[in-house]
Amino acid sequence: MCTAGKVIKCKAAIAWEPNKPLSIEEVEVAPPKAHEVRVKIISSGVCGSDHSALHEKIPAKFPAILGHEGVGVVESVGEEVTKVKPGDKVIPLFVPECGSCRSCKTPDCNLCEKFDFGSSTQFGLMQDGTSRFTCKGKSIYNYAGTSTFSEYTVVSDICIAKVDANAPPEVCLIGCGFATGYGAAINTAKVTKGSTCAVFGLGGVGFSAIAGCKDAGASRIIGVGSHKDKFPKAIQVGATECVSPKDYDKPIHEVICGMTNGGVDFAIECAGRIETMMTALQCTFCANGITVILGVASPKDTLPLNPGLLLTGRSLKGSVFGGYKCDDITQLVQDYMNKKINLDHLISKKLKLNEINEAFELIQQGTGVRSIVIF
Ligand code: NAP
Ligand code: ZN
Ligand code: ZN
Repeated sequence: MCTAGKVIKCKAAIAWEPNKPLSIEEVEVAPPKAHEVRVKIISSGVCGSDHSALHEKIPAKFPAILGHEGVGVVESVGEEVTKVKPGDKVIPLFVPECGSCRSCKTPDCNLCEKFDFGSSTQFGLMQDGTSRFTCKGKSIYNYAGTSTFSEYTVVSDICIAKVDANAPPEVCLIGCGFATGYGAAINTAKVTKGSTCAVFGLGGVGFSAIAGCKDAGASRIIGVGSHKDKFPKAIQVGATECVSPKDYDKPIHEVICGMTNGGVDFAIECAGRIETMMTALQCTFCANGITVILGVASPKDTLPLNPGLLLTGRSLKGSVFGGYKCDDITQLVQDYMNKKINLDHLISKKLKLNEINEAFELIQQGTGVRSIVIF
């Protein structure tokens, strides 16, 4: 039965309010308007940012359908959509690419001006300021413009990448965690051959950063995390050794500086904690160490930064979505299809939509790497 132009009723996980479990509800998903695409979701990873949004550490509007790491198939398109057509396999993008703003026109920059940090009145809504989701007569906000915890979602045509038709459900990870961590090593830090790296926070983003450091040719990659049961897997992905701050009486940056003749060349922070960001900076070599922050802290948080740490030659930077633009995502999926990159080690659990709260509990405990929901 053709559903184009009609409202679709389907299941979605709704966050009615912060700090409460998601509830599986029947929602109505309106047809896409001009420059919008309705997508049938195949799978979605559950990212640390979804957990932070639910727990109000980063901006979200409620009630919302969270989720921003999915892959799906185009069900229908609104007027003036030329980029994709019904039946195309796609990855919704939480970082848009309008193609005409300063960032989009700058080769080394992916932060399109349409990216919404959560401060605009339109945040959680489509570009025209309205929602495509309703449930029990209430309008529901989207999250990150993607809302992949729904059997169907509507995204803007500047927030979509067409990918290989045969790509399996696992490629959903390229929609956030993998691209973020891997790209941070390759594009942002520009990790060099033979270098020494430290990666803080052994979740989906951290594991992907380790994979990026390995593929960039780093000779030593130290995984830093507090859950030792994840260490063997981190080593499988590319870490050469792992350390837990819990095993030492002195600060872990001192331990790492001691292990590396004065500090690592590159540190990548993937935990989203102010303390870890400072530790990452402090464990880099004073003369030229580069620290990349990926973890998302609350907008209210500030870094207690002594300028002397930078004065001697260290650099501190960050990136969103690993610096990748839309076409790079199509290519990353191709790289997975050609076995140049591996996503399988990152997946610690596969769940059904009605089990999604388990994925949030695993993030809370810090014990899993990445859970993915298979629709
Ligand atoms: P995750 O699955 O929650 O993993 C983060 C890991 O960091 C945890 O597994 C835990 O591992 C460690 N950790 C987290 N909170 C901690 C705490 N309170 N105390 C000690 N250790 C803690 O998250 P993720 O999806 O990998 O994402 C990592 C960070 O990147 C998050 O802040 C997320 O919001 C952010 N993010 C940023 C972007 C971007 O574009 N920049 C994109 C995606 C995600 P160990 O205990 O083993 O270290
Ligand atoms: Zn994410
Ligand atoms: Zn743009």
